Amino acid sequence: MKGIVFTGDKGVEVRDFEVPSPGPGEVIVKIRASGMCGSDLHVYRGAAVKPSAELLVQGHEPCGEIVQVGAGVSAATAKVGDRVMIHHYWGCGTCIDCRTGWPQMCRTAEPRVPTLNEHGAHAEYMRIPAIQTMPLPDSLSYAAGAAIGCGTGTAWGALLRLGDISGKTIAVFGQGPVGLSATMFAASLGARVIAVDIAQGRLDQARAFGADVVVNSAEVDAVEAIRAATAGRGPELVLETSGVTRVAQQALDVAAPWGRICFIGIGADIAFNTKDTLRRQLTIVTSWTMSTVEQMRCAEYVDRMKLPVEDLFSHRWTLDQAVEAYEWFDRQDAGKGVFEAV
Ligand SMILES: [Zn+2]
Ligand SMILES: [Zn+2]
Repeated sequence: MKGIVFTGDKGVEVRDFEVPSPGPGEVIVKIRASGMCGSDLHVYRGAAVKPSAELLVQGHEPCGEIVQVGAGVSAATAKVGDRVMIHHYWGCGTCIDCRTGWPQMCRTAEPRVPTLNEHGAHAEYMRIPAIQTMPLPDSLSYAAGAAIGCGTGTAWGALLRLGDISGKTIAVFGQGPVGLSATMFAASLGARVIAVDIAQGRLDQARAFGADVVVNSAEVDAVEAIRAATAGRGPELVLETSGVTRVAQQALDVAAPWGRICFIGIGADIAFNTKDTLRRQLTIVTSWTMSTVEQMRCAEYVDRMKLPVEDLFSHRWTLDQAVEAYEWFDRQDAGKGVFEAV
């Protein structure tokens, strides 16, 4: 079967791999959609690997159909023909973190993660433990299921960390696929959304997803613009998705007294002085993706509210187009891409 690998220094190849077969407790999923995620670019742009290196298939946003079931998998867990989403980390399965639906936080066994220590989803088939699959609602496309499995689910998880958002104003910094998903969910849940980005195209999409106010931070001072839109007080809730230090500082600065701020953009360094900050009574939280349970609830919510997750995708590719697809994605100026099986 075909699978996409990164050879470092922006090298991409489509290579041949053995079609996997399932061990006990495992299933084989025919990948119907495999999302491209901003975190792919860390590896894509990384140092070149030796020509002899064994490379793992890339892609950690899989969605597809079960085509083979290993020994010991009950029909209630997974069966051939099931349309499934995948929670893309798995741990020991029995510790408190795994049992509460957070296998990515397993401390008992090193979590298995596609592209890190397992083959990923930019391929025709993928082998995974049956318990990592979950039903994809009938009305949702495979591409929507792939998005919910990472970026869109991450936005859902972050809003849960912010708590009750109905009727409040939330500023969402960064309108990439995660930020746009957060804008869509927050508007749907009854919040007034102020969307911030440097790309007008993304802000236009944020409007279409329900943002009440959009702020182009390439043209105006984001903090001033958000204060102006909130009668000088700032928003009660702030979500930072960009991972850029300067932007994360703005997110911290702009929150209203008693505000809640959630940081999910990876890579920002944030500094604050308690004397200057504590009189604002802020609550600062972080959030890392979502639990298995919340991934399912997120999909149910998207299904029930008929949310336009599909509109996140601006580009659809086949595996053979991998080089072109990642050259496009590396520019980071447009929406979200997905590899789809023809
Ligand atoms: Zn991802
Ligand atoms: Zn565990």
